[in-house]
Amino acid sequence: MTKKIIVWFKRDFRFIDNPALYYAAQDGVVIPVYIHFPTSIKGKLTNSEIFHDQALLSFQKTINQSGGRLLIREEDPATILPKLIQEAGANALYFNLSYEPEQVQLDQYIYDNTLVPVQRFHAGLLTEPGTILNKQGKPYKVFTSFWKSLSSFPIQKPLPQPKEITWEQSEVNEKEPIFENTTISSHWKAGGEKEALNKLQLFLENQLEDYKTYRDYPGMDATSRLSPHLAQGEISPRLIWHETQEQLELTGMEKELSHTYEESAEAFLKQLVWRDFAYHQLAVFPHIVNQPPLQPSYRNFPWIAKEQEIFAKWKDGLTGYPIVDAGMRELNETGYMHNRVRMITASFLVKHLLIHWGEGQAWFEKQLVDHDLANNTMGWQWVAGTGFDASPFFRIFNPIKQAEKFDPPDGIYIRKWVPELKTLPTKYIYHPAEAPKDILNQASVTIGQDYPAPIVEHRFARERALEAFQNMKREG
Ligand code: FAD
Repeated sequence: MTKKIIVWFKRDFRFIDNPALYYAAQDGVVIPVYIHFPTSIKGKLTNSEIFHDQALLSFQKTINQSGGRLLIREEDPATILPKLIQEAGANALYFNLSYEPEQVQLDQYIYDNTLVPVQRFHAGLLTEPGTILNKQGKPYKVFTSFWKSLSSFPIQKPLPQPKEITWEQSEVNEKEPIFENTTISSHWKAGGEKEALNKLQLFLENQLEDYKTYRDYPGMDATSRLSPHLAQGEISPRLIWHETQEQLELTGMEKELSHTYEESAEAFLKQLVWRDFAYHQLAVFPHIVNQPPLQPSYRNFPWIAKEQEIFAKWKDGLTGYPIVDAGMRELNETGYMHNRVRMITASFLVKHLLIHWGEGQAWFEKQLVDHDLANNTMGWQWVAGTGFDASPFFRIFNPIKQAEKFDPPDGIYIRKWVPELKTLPTKYIYHPAEAPKDILNQASVTIGQDYPAPIVEHRFARERALEAFQNMKREG
């Protein structure tokens, strides 16, 4: 008897290295299913939900082109999956595992309560949570040790695209495109898995070699921009890992590899491993997404209650610190912000304004096209000093020095995103409020009118933050 298998897709919109699809295609007839979670279909969509819908649409088209029809339902998976299994007469259910706490519970519930055999696969990370442990069998809290351990671990080779898939034909269920009508659409090409693979190829060929040298400069196009595709599972991290190694080997056969090239490849793979590190933490400490910090002493931190006006200035990019404002405006316009600037803007909110990191985390969740629960949570806790292996709280970024260091030689990133400062001489681009009046006049900038004065003075903010930290330590 032919096996009829429901493959339940979630955030794994790809054909290459998709174990649930690969093994279902080998084992029988495939009924592809996607289920919108009821919570995500209410209210205004976040940018990552818009990107998700677009990824779904692209995936649906790809399945159509290969002769199948993706069934799309909007209901609780726990209710709809048994119905679909019964209606289709399916005799197995395959899916790739999720790693976000609520989804993990749902996956387990489905596994325990489905009447037909269920097969679950690991597909979204380089390594399964729970596999990279220290000598005591405990999860690592320090990234370097995690990295060392993971890099000596055999990373599974990506599975190829299934050679042949026998799809069960069912209804056509075209979804309306949402992406095309939004502000982020002009910044993100909607091309699904094909676009993600294309981006990886271009990155490996053109940017990998200098990744380590330039990855911290937001004014340069030096990183892969694969994050939204990874977040939606349009590309597999295992594929990125092995393709990067292969690129290194291929280039090594053509020419002698420079030390920089090798270091760059390692630096890139390390960033990918930070993603695994974040998910491994989330698996062990699922509570970290709901505010309590990983470091318990921070429970008493004297955060300042969020003042709407000040918070709005941070959100809108009107703090009077050009690098912070450039970052927030890039985020609002494109749904993306460069990693270095994520650190600077987050640090500014937490340390200069003393607003709880959870507020910033929530704003990033709304705005980021690549929003990822594990990475966003870890990113904020890293900046706030409350996470494991985090930047200590007392190391306070000076937003002017950070801008001078990472937006050289001319403030190209600031000029792009804060156009009212575009014609200021480089000497003042990082701190326009300190420019003499005649220079400001020549650039047609009136501080407080065309561009805000700093909403908080750096030295004052730094001392206030350090005092708050000392108070917490005394009380803790
Ligand atoms: P590349 O430099 O090309 O790196 C390749 C991949 O490695 C990325 O696509 C990403 O998957 C992973 N990666 C890179 N840097 C990190 C990092 N620091 N931590 C974990 N994984 C990393 N990343 C997200 O994907 N989603 C988020 O919601 C998110 N929120 C963040 C919030 C804060 C406060 C901070 C400081 C960082 C956050 N990051 C987040 C991490 C990082 O900023 C982005 O992954 C990176 O900027 C994406 O650009 P890229 O794809 O060009 O990265």
